[in-house]
Amino acid sequence: MDPDRSVTQDDAEESVVKRNATCVSALNMIIKSLWDINVFASSREDEPVFHEFLLNDLSLKHPLEANGVFDLFLNILEALPNWGSYFEVYEMAKKICNRCKMDLEYPTERSFGLIINASSLREVKASLFFSYTLKSVFKHFTFENIVKVIKMNLKMPCDKEGCGKRNYVQRMINKLPSVFTIALEWTKNETAGEIYDTASFLATEIDVSVIYQYKGDSTCTKYRLVSMVCSHGERYNCVAYENNRWVRYLRSEIEVIGDWDSVVSICLTQSIRPQILFFESNPDIGTLVRSLIGFASIYGVKARAGNEYDTGVWVGDRKIAAIGVRISSGITCHGLAFNIYPDLKYFEHIVPYGIPDKQVTSLRKETDTLLPSEEVIHEQLVSCLAKVFSYDDIVWKEDPSVILVTPDNEFLGLIRF
Ligand SMILES: [Zn+2]
Repeated sequence: MDPDRSVTQDDAEESVVKRNATCVSALNMIIKSLWDINVFASSREDEPVFHEFLLNDLSLKHPLEANGVFDLFLNILEALPNWGSYFEVYEMAKKICNRCKMDLEYPTERSFGLIINASSLREVKASLFFSYTLKSVFKHFTFENIVKVIKMNLKMPCDKEGCGKRNYVQRMINKLPSVFTIALEWTKNETAGEIYDTASFLATEIDVSVIYQYKGDSTCTKYRLVSMVCSHGERYNCVAYENNRWVRYLRSEIEVIGDWDSVVSICLTQSIRPQILFFESNPDIGTLVRSLIGFASIYGVKARAGNEYDTGVWVGDRKIAAIGVRISSGITCHGLAFNIYPDLKYFEHIVPYGIPDKQVTSLRKETDTLLPSEEVIHEQLVSCLAKVFSYDDIVWKEDPSVILVTPDNEFLGLIRF
């Protein structure tokens, strides 16, 4: 036996194991990041099933390229097409030549989010810094404006019988995705300062209508960052917003980070590169839905979030809670109604929630557990809401109704029994 050869083989095997571990860590952290998105709230319970399925389905033996974690994410969506629908963006592009007035429409393109170079983010920031006076700098320095400059302000020549002049291409969407995804591409040799510069430029809230021209009729084009898949040396982390603070998942441990500024500082001190950013639409509704799903689970009822057509909280195809949105003088108000034990016969006479082919249910109908008194249920529901909002946000009005307000004293919702 040649000892040198066996050493080489061992090295090779060790290196395969190491690569494999990196891929598995990326897969784990992508899954972790998804669980924080409201539309996946009910899938979380089946984590072992999805984990096992994806581990078997995906080829994790190849080394991940520098930015391969986004490719891995796309492979996951390919393996689970139902998941893909939450991320789909259908982008239409149009250009009107300002010289010859010829217009050109490009074919609609489907994507699962925007891919941006971390370095171009820094370059655009630097160029904007020089092109605006200090007074207006802050207005133009928003993350979505920079994304727009990088991604949307591409000029294309007026070709196909046109005059050849380069014109801006307008990018439009008709439909808002449930989850808006931004992938950051890194070269992997950035300095800690460059990582910090990039991270400090990210925002936890973005308005998609700044990036795209939005042609649909939804009034809420704002999205909030819920989780990120980050690379950390050979491993991946998940940084997520849970219970009003940022936390970081490393392997199987969880570490509390705190506010967003603290997230940006650990990017600097530990060279953590955010690679996939998941922004969720309508976060307030997402938070309400999550808390109501948690409440239902106390009684062993497996509820799920609805979708953009069937909102609220559902048990199978039966609706158990409704969440309403009202926009008045620019303030969004959310009201919620959880069916505990209403007289469901009432719904036979009216079309519940405007959905004729769906049924309405109640907690009493769905659970095998004997329900406690109204007061006890009330307290449980409030404590579920308090877990996702903060206690200060909940204002007790006259029993048995609870009024939810945001820290700015905006009306958020009313719980009725
Ligand atoms: Zn032209």
